[in-house]
Amino acid sequence: NEEIFKNVISHAKEYGFVFQSSEIYDGLSAVYDYGQLGAELKNNIKTYWWKAMVQMHENIVGLDSAIFMHPKVWKASGHVDGFNDPMIDNKDSKKRYRADQLLEDKIAAYEAEGEKLKAESLQTEMDNALKAEDLPRLKELIEEHKIVCPFSKTANWTDVRQFNLMFATQFGAMAEGSEEVYLRPETAQGIFVNFLNVQKSGRMKIPFGIAQIGKAFRNEVIARQFIMRMREFEQMEMQFFVRPGTEMEWYNKWKETRLKWHLALGTNPEKYKFHDHAKLAHYANAAVDIEFEFPFGFKEVEGIHSRTDFDLSQHQEFSGKKMQYFDPEVDEETGKPYGNYIPYVIETSIGLDRFFLVTLINSFEEQDLSTEDKQDSRSVLKLHPALAPYKAAILPLTKKDGLPEKAREIMDQLKLDFNMAYDEKDSIGKRYRRQDAIGTPFCITVDYDTLTDNSVTIRHRDSMTQERVAIQDLQKIIGDLVSW
Ligand code: ATP
Repeated sequence: NEEIFKNVISHAKEYGFVFQSSEIYDGLSAVYDYGQLGAELKNNIKTYWWKAMVQMHENIVGLDSAIFMHPKVWKASGHVDGFNDPMIDNKDSKKRYRADQLLEDKIAAYEAEGEKLKAESLQTEMDNALKAEDLPRLKELIEEHKIVCPFSKTANWTDVRQFNLMFATQFGAMAEGSEEVYLRPETAQGIFVNFLNVQKSGRMKIPFGIAQIGKAFRNEVIARQFIMRMREFEQMEMQFFVRPGTEMEWYNKWKETRLKWHLALGTNPEKYKFHDHAKLAHYANAAVDIEFEFPFGFKEVEGIHSRTDFDLSQHQEFSGKKMQYFDPEVDEETGKPYGNYIPYVIETSIGLDRFFLVTLINSFEEQDLSTEDKQDSRSVLKLHPALAPYKAAILPLTKKDGLPEKAREIMDQLKLDFNMAYDEKDSIGKRYRRQDAIGTPFCITVDYDTLTDNSVTIRHRDSMTQERVAIQDLQKIIGDLVSW
């Protein structure tokens, strides 16, 4: 499995999907750049999400709020005081760890050794310590269970300290008199503070949602596993505002709707599972993760949280501005309008980069195509055609006799509707392999017959079958397969 993951990472680099940021300077830890094909794939994922969430729902609208927000926003949201990880340093290796992660690893080790009771009791003790924010107790547990640093193999630990995950910077030209602001650690707060702006200007009626895609920043201490956990990443979030008391109904609806979105890409349903949160964040009354089976195990890709009226109430308190909605609908029980209230919120929050990784892992295959007399293999990205960076590649059989000109003519027509690749270098077989490796669903070969019969050969990426079709039918054939 580790091997598969390594291959996915090197494939992503080799074909221009993902590069390490500032690579010529040896990179910047947990920051990545998307290359020419990565940018296309990422955009297609965004479009798939935006269409499904905004354009397919009359009662959901989009937003694009700023990364910088008033510092009080993060006081109100609880991020200044509560967005912390308990960290511990090993004095010998000088390496820093998340205390809860060290304990989790120990629990997993006990389980692997069949020490079920030990695992369970440590889990309970850790949960209690985390809940009570009892940092000395976390250290005690680490010592009691003789946890050593994976590098130095020593148990020479510092105390456990809270480490805030927000990046701070100076706002204004001069150090003195300038104000400290944060890079947002989630996009959701931009939605909450604009709740009434959107509701009033869009004349939205509850239930309704506001969706946005944007960057978020977290000073993650343990940054590993490629684009799984980054310091700069993108989120696709939707906050759905509902009448208090109806939140569980909507929570369950969004849980199902979001899983369907994942499965609509043709993923094996066994690769996904729900994971209910046993420990709830301070703002939530129900929370579930949609987990995907990565090569390193089932891990969260998306969270669905019932956030109650926590955020809007906090902003009402901190800003002194009413965050209420007037609901004119009549309550059947009382015969009176529901009137003014602070809505409850169901949130769906998915990491764009993490989902990008899901897409790569899910679609990457190394196939052995050897026959009795010939060794052969290919790397293929079986991307859903709607996500593929290029929808089709145009390949003139040779570089002469008017074939490139004819190929360009076909390309010029199709590129109005689809992102197209053009390739005339190397043998046709090699060109097919290059397109397979970047997930192009169709290769269109222009040959000598094309000049007289106006037809081309179209090759399908997954089945590798070929068929002869009229040039005038290409648009419909490609269009049918790349749409949802
Ligand atoms: P985790 O437990 O993995 O740190 P989280 O519970 O803190 O995640 P949320 O705050 O619920 O995550 O964020 C919603 C989504 O944003 C996550 O499901 C994940 O896909 C994505 N995400 C969160 N942190 C990162 C990160 N550092 N890098 C990439 N994606 C992230």
